[in-house]
Amino acid sequence: MADRKSKPREGETCQVKSCGKPAERSVSGESAREAKLDVEEDLKRVHLCKEHYRQYKKSTKQDRVLESLGR
Ligand SMILES: [Zn+2]
Repeated sequence: MADRKSKPREGETCQVKSCGKPAERSVSGESAREAKLDVEEDLKRVHLCKEHYRQYKKSTKQDRVLESLGR
């Protein structure tokens, strides 16, 4: 409940299980799961904290690299 001013919107936290930090970004649930983030299956949008967003970007980038290398 502390530190409200740094949150993008009130009550929005990172939706990766066992994280719970203030959300910085939101991505589609599908792409979050593709990035191997541990989120609920039925979410359409997933809010991510700074760290998990970085992880998300990294993973999606790696996927693209792997895909292009494999062809
Ligand atoms: Zn997080």
